Amino acid sequence: MPTPGGRGSPLIEDTGHFMSFSHIVGLEQPVAVLRRAIVAERVSHAYLLHGPANIGKTLLAHEFAKAVNCETNTAIDSVESVDPCDECSACRRIDQGSHPDIRAIRPMAKVQAEDEEGGADVVIEGAMITTEQVGHLVTEASLKASQARRKVFIISSAEAMNPTAANRLLKTLEEPPPSTTLVLTTQNLSRLLPTIISRCQMVKCHPAPPAVAEEGLRTRFPDADPGALRSMVALSGGRVGWAIRLLDHPETLELRDRLLDAAASLPARDWFEGMAVGEGLIGAAEEWWLATEDAEFAEKALKASPDRVRRTKMNDVLDVLLTWFRDLSLLAAGGNVELVINADRGDELAAIARERQPARVQRACGDIEEARAQIRGNANLRLAAEVLAFKLIRACR
Ligand SMILES: [Zn+2]
Repeated sequence: MPTPGGRGSPLIEDTGHFMSFSHIVGLEQPVAVLRRAIVAERVSHAYLLHGPANIGKTLLAHEFAKAVNCETNTAIDSVESVDPCDECSACRRIDQGSHPDIRAIRPMAKVQAEDEEGGADVVIEGAMITTEQVGHLVTEASLKASQARRKVFIISSAEAMNPTAANRLLKTLEEPPPSTTLVLTTQNLSRLLPTIISRCQMVKCHPAPPAVAEEGLRTRFPDADPGALRSMVALSGGRVGWAIRLLDHPETLELRDRLLDAAASLPARDWFEGMAVGEGLIGAAEEWWLATEDAEFAEKALKASPDRVRRTKMNDVLDVLLTWFRDLSLLAAGGNVELVINADRGDELAAIARERQPARVQRACGDIEEARAQIRGNANLRLAAEVLAFKLIRACR
């Protein structure tokens, strides 16, 4: 996959390098749904892959694009045999991102970066899918396929489309072009227009079971310490993509710890500390950016557009907070401590949950999603972070 922070990424990306269906960790059921559709020659014009962040939904969409276009995958007799070969010209071009009929979009933002030669636009991973991005995609979808048996357009984090963009896409969903499939992914169904949802075939994606996730990580990181891998699996709650990102950027692990320390301290906080807590969340977003992007590029983009950068990485910060409050609401409602995502903090969570009201911590999860949506939109970042901090302090009363 192209690096998210890659300089000058186009608004419609080529797809990057991926492996075949059989290499996708923990998504056997969704893979089976797509394989059956291909065998029965009943591929839908639109799929909506929904489930938690970082479990491989976009990866699955890319593999699907290969499977429906693979040149050696034409005489299929069994469901299990549906797998892209990774070697024919279609597979290779999709892997290299040079296939003209397979395109992907995800939230992006343009940053005006200043350098010696003057200003230049840099495209970074962003908070919104813009009308411009969807416009390009809709135009491409209306053209005849140049090479593919089936054109595939992938829209990751589709909930990040603004209403205008979503309505533009809706027209294409209502009158789907022939031999074209749109694959949308989302972690938050409630933020998608119902009219969009109703036009797609839903495919639910679950996090990988621990043993499966561990096996997948071991294949990817053969030299990693087995104990470290196991605790990473526990931390990730089966979200393999998240675990991979953390293993790739160990600094984020420390950041995650500090964020959870801050979350654990909320019951002892007072109202007037909300501003400082909100400020801390924004600071963490900035650190997350610096920890995960190429150093020179990260500094440049941060200097050019601090607000845009912080807004983008608030997504990761809120993901961490959400795991904490999901764990708390599970435990406050009498759930088993073995089911928490933050397994390394089970005792601490259990102690905090004992004193909490289930409905309040439950509501905090909704408050976090609300803040995420506001920050993706044009809400004032500082204000949104502070309001969230006040609500979280209240939830821990
Ligand atoms: Zn192939």
